[in-house]
Amino acid sequence: MENKKIAVYITIMVAVVFIIGVTLCAKNTMPILQAREIQSPNEKVSPANEKVLIEALSQDQDETLTMVNKEDGANESINYQKMYIEKGNNTSIRNFEIEEKAEAIPVLMYHHLLTKDENPFRSNSAILDVKNFQEQMNILYENNYTTITLYELEQFLLGNLDVPKNTVVITFDDGYLSNIHYAYPILKEYGFVASIFMITHEVHETSEVFNPNVLQYLSYKDMVDTLDVFTYDNHTHNMHRLENGNGYLLTKSSEEIIQDLKINMELTHSPYFAYPYGHYNEETLTILEELGIRMAFTVERGLVKKGDSLLELNRYGIFPNTSLRQFKNIIGLNTRWSILK
Ligand SMILES: [Zn+2]
Repeated sequence: MENKKIAVYITIMVAVVFIIGVTLCAKNTMPILQAREIQSPNEKVSPANEKVLIEALSQDQDETLTMVNKEDGANESINYQKMYIEKGNNTSIRNFEIEEKAEAIPVLMYHHLLTKDENPFRSNSAILDVKNFQEQMNILYENNYTTITLYELEQFLLGNLDVPKNTVVITFDDGYLSNIHYAYPILKEYGFVASIFMITHEVHETSEVFNPNVLQYLSYKDMVDTLDVFTYDNHTHNMHRLENGNGYLLTKSSEEIIQDLKINMELTHSPYFAYPYGHYNEETLTILEELGIRMAFTVERGLVKKGDSLLELNRYGIFPNTSLRQFKNIIGLNTRWSILK
C-alpha cells in the first residue's frame, strides 16, 4: 500500500517536472532563424494567454483585452496593448501636392533586415541587407516619391482620393524587431510611412534588446512607440504555418480560420490583411469579407489600381537578389531614359 502511494507520488513529480521543463524550453529556446515564407516552422507550444484570449472571444468580446496575458501577469504588456488601441491605426488622409495623378501604385513587400556582417544565414532569400534597404529608400526620396498608408491606398482604390504619380506603399510581413531597429529610423528620416503585417501570436510581452543572432518579434511597446511611421495590420494570429506545403488558410476548417482571424483583428484593430505565403482560395475570400477585412494582399507581382479586387491586391517582394535596376523598374523609374539623360 505504502509502496503504491510512493509510486503514484513519484509519477506525479516526474510529470510536473516534465511539464515545467517543456514550458521553460518553449519560452526560452531562442528560435533559430527560419525564413517563414519559405520553410515551415515547427509546431510550438501555444502561450497560455492565447487560450485565455480564445475563451474570452467565444464568451465576451469586451473582456478580451483585459484577459489577454492575465495568466502571465504581464501588466506592462496589457497597458501597452490598451495604449496601442487608444492611439489606433492611422486613418487620417493627408493633402498631397499633385502635378500628375497616379494611375497605378506598386506595393513593396519586405521581411527581415540584417547588416551583411550580422547575417549568419546568407543563403536565406528573405533577409535583406540593411544597406540595400537604405539605398532603395534613398532612391524613393531622391526622386520625390510619396509613401501612403493602407487607409490612403484604400481611398485611392475606391476612387475617393488622388495621389501623386510617384507613389509607393511600403509593407513588411511577420512583425520582426529588425523592422523597427533598422527600417524605422531610415523611414522616419525620409518622412516615409509603412505597414507591418503582424503574426500577433508572436508579439512579445516585453521589448527586447536587438540581437541579430535570433529571430525576434515586436512587442506592444514597440508598436506604440513607432505609430508615427508604422501601422500594424493582419497576417493571421497563429496560422503562418504550412501543412504539406500548403498554408493553414488552405488546410484548416473555416471555423478555425475565423477564430484565428478574429483574434488577429482584435489585437491589431486593422481591417487590412496579407496572406501568409500568398496562399488563399475562394473560401478564404468569403471568410475575409464576412469578417470585415477591406483589403488583402497577395505575393503576386504587379501594380494595384482602381477596379482591382480589394481582397487580391498585388505586391512586389523585395529580396536580396533584387537589383537596384529591378527596384527602379518596379517603382516606375525609367532607367533607360535616365541613363540617356
Ligand atoms: Zn509572412
